[in-house]
Amino acid sequence: MAENIFERYQKQLLFKPIGLKGQQKLGKSRVGILGVGALGSNLASICARSGIGRLVLVDSDQVELSNLQRQMLFDESDIGCSKAISAADKLSRINSEISIEAFCERLDARNFRDLFGNCDLLLDGTDNFASRFIMNQQAIELGIPWVHSAVTASSGQSMFIMPGKTACLRCLIPDTDAPAEFPTVHNSGVITPIVTIIASISAAAALRFLVEKHIDYDLKYYDAWDHRFSSVAINRDKSCPHCRSF
Ligand SMILES: [Zn+2]
Repeated sequence: MAENIFERYQKQLLFKPIGLKGQQKLGKSRVGILGVGALGSNLASICARSGIGRLVLVDSDQVELSNLQRQMLFDESDIGCSKAISAADKLSRINSEISIEAFCERLDARNFRDLFGNCDLLLDGTDNFASRFIMNQQAIELGIPWVHSAVTASSGQSMFIMPGKTACLRCLIPDTDAPAEFPTVHNSGVITPIVTIIASISAAAALRFLVEKHIDYDLKYYDAWDHRFSSVAINRDKSCPHCRSF
């Protein structure tokens, strides 16, 4: 790790559960982030600033004006540019001591292993459940833990998924064909505070997992408009096609 670790991470090192040993673990970790839009750019920013040593960013989209309300890594000069490339460029100026790989690709079952196969942990920064179900199935098959995050309107959820141990996304949502009226950011919008709150809850779980391997697996739900929080244990579904083999 680079020479100025004590200056760069001064306040994080003072946090006893992390300390120098934890910081060194973060520096040796490789974390993949699927989507660097709203949730993803917040997750990536926290990971880079916290000193996670290797980041893999995957997003096939370009930055649009309508993204700037909530996608914290971008500004007007990024409009029309690749989100993954622009995010990596911005993050490298925030922390030049970490390695960042950026892929302007759409995730599918065929490229998952090449993009994320050597990651210690994956973070869900997408805005759609089709991508999340691909991530869920592939991560479980490869045995890679991942943190699910989702936001819509003023609420959102976060859940840590440990293959073979916890409920997975399919246990939580058995029906992969969501009805058209199912609330999404595309039909119900989203406000900026819930994006940063849910990304922060998921990023905190990621840091704790990478440092301590100990984590709370409950589903966290928060509504930023009504200030309602809940934490609910999710049981594994015995009929889940991904979990029943464990
Ligand atoms: Zn499952």
